[in-house]
Amino acid sequence: MSEILARKEITTMLFAVIKQFNALHDALAANGTLSDGYGTNHFHRDISAEGPFGDFSDPTSSALAVSGTATDLPTLIALVNQQQAVLAGAQELSHFHDDRAHLIVDVVNFSGLSVVPQAKDLATALTLVNALQLFYNQHRLQAGVHPTNDTTNTWTGNPATDLASAVASANFGTSEINDHILSGPTVGSVKLIGA
Ligand SMILES: [Zn+2]
Repeated sequence: MSEILARKEITTMLFAVIKQFNALHDALAANGTLSDGYGTNHFHRDISAEGPFGDFSDPTSSALAVSGTATDLPTLIALVNQQQAVLAGAQELSHFHDDRAHLIVDVVNFSGLSVVPQAKDLATALTLVNALQLFYNQHRLQAGVHPTNDTTNTWTGNPATDLASAVASANFGTSEINDHILSGPTVGSVKLIGA
C-alpha cells in the first residue's frame, strides 16, 4: 500500500495508523523468516483475542481460549456451549469469524456451527460435541482461510455416543482448539470492534 494521507484530526489519523500498522503486521506475519514470534510457520496471522481489557490508555488482551474440564453432564454441557461460543459465537469475537487471524472469515464453518442448538441435556450435548468436532476439523483445512493449513491439531476419535465418550471427546477438543488458536505471531494487530 502507498502512503495514506490523513487529515490532522484524531479519528481519521487513528484509522490511518491502524490500517498501516495492520498491513505491516500482515507483511511480517507472511514473511516467515523473522524472529520475535514471526519466525515460524504459524497457522494464523494473528491470535484471536478476548477483551478489550485494561485502561483505555494502556489496553491489553488475552488469547481467546476454552477453559475448564468436563467430568459429568452439567460440566459437559457448560464446556461444549463454551466451545461453540469460542468458535462460532458472537460474530466479531469468535474464532471462525476472525478476519484478522484468518485471511478471510470462515463463512462455511461459522454458518454450520453457529446454528446448532446449545446443549441443555445429554441428547443435545451429543449433537453439539459431534458438530464441534466436525466443523472444527473442517476449519483447520478450509480452503483460503489460513495462511498455512493446520494439519497438527486434529480433533481425533469416533463420534460420541454416550456421556463417557462425549466427556472424553469434549476434553480432547479443548486442547486442540486452544493450540490451534494460539498459533500466531506474539505481536498482535489491531481489530476494531463495536463500541
Ligand atoms: Zn483458525
